Amino acid sequence: MNAAEMHPRNDDELGRAARRSLNGAHAGEVGIVLPPFIDHHVHVQLTSPDRAVAGGIAGVVDLGANPSAVAARAARDGLPVVRYAGAFLTAIGGYPSDRAWRPDGSVREVPQLPAAGESRDRREAAREHSALPGPVEAAVDEQRAFGASVVKVVLNADAGPVFDRVTLDAVVTAAHARGLPVAVHAEGAGTAGLAIDAGADALVHAPWTERLDDALVERAVAAGQAWISTLAIHARDFGEGSPELAFAIDNLARFRAAGGRVLYGTDLGNGELPVGVNTNELELLVRAGLEASDLIEALTDPWPLAARDGWGHGGVATFVPGEPPDSLPTWLANARVVPADDLELL
Ligand SMILES: [Zn+2]
Repeated sequence: MNAAEMHPRNDDELGRAARRSLNGAHAGEVGIVLPPFIDHHVHVQLTSPDRAVAGGIAGVVDLGANPSAVAARAARDGLPVVRYAGAFLTAIGGYPSDRAWRPDGSVREVPQLPAAGESRDRREAAREHSALPGPVEAAVDEQRAFGASVVKVVLNADAGPVFDRVTLDAVVTAAHARGLPVAVHAEGAGTAGLAIDAGADALVHAPWTERLDDALVERAVAAGQAWISTLAIHARDFGEGSPELAFAIDNLARFRAAGGRVLYGTDLGNGELPVGVNTNELELLVRAGLEASDLIEALTDPWPLAARDGWGHGGVATFVPGEPPDSLPTWLANARVVPADDLELL
């Protein structure tokens, strides 16, 4: 395969042949230059992402942290560039408010809003206070004040209460009104459907606790929802032959086949994982039907930002030595973050 064949969908800069400069390390080495790679699901308070840079990762998206701590980490110079959600928004008593691993201040519990059918007293009480920001708006505003690029919501029906549809709708409305997408952790029966039907912009894990029917998958695609892969954690936690891994791969395969937007993400910080481009994650994406160009797009998609420019990567690029072989995962594991100025396009 040559560089042009790597990106059949359009004609941008993905996959150009390049040579490293004669001055630095690996002088004159020839390979392929690609945009910076992003791990779209990490937790910087649980595992430092710094070592991932040597493994080819130039940017990370933190999806659950103490907002003050992650903002301070993101303000540091250097790589990887960190974008973030701030706190986990969840129902009162919802996951992960009871988990030992959660960093202090990383969980923001939000009360359910009164439903339209509830007693007149509660509705009147809510209306009286409508001049003030409600609890949902306040929670979203807190994350935005700390510089969040996305709002993270947890719907884990297997481990506590989750937002009802009215409250989730209010979170999505409040986030969108502030220009922020909403990314949902959906775990347990019906939660992925709840997130899709409420207009969530992303699922932070390809759904792994149940099979989504084709119509639901197609609604997710039609709405432009993005799914972050995190397949390797299921292979690790449940095993290669597990129903969880099979559900995740099958759901993701049908989502991709229908045109869905797939993002590379590992959940770095969730237990032991390789740091840097994760070959196992890429191999599982291939099993879900992603082709070479799909893998590159999943690694280089600027989500949750609208464009790569917004990342402020400071003139770095990805360089992978050699010609791309038929199977990309092992080759991509050799990816390096290099100054774009050190590369001469061929
Ligand atoms: Zn996570």
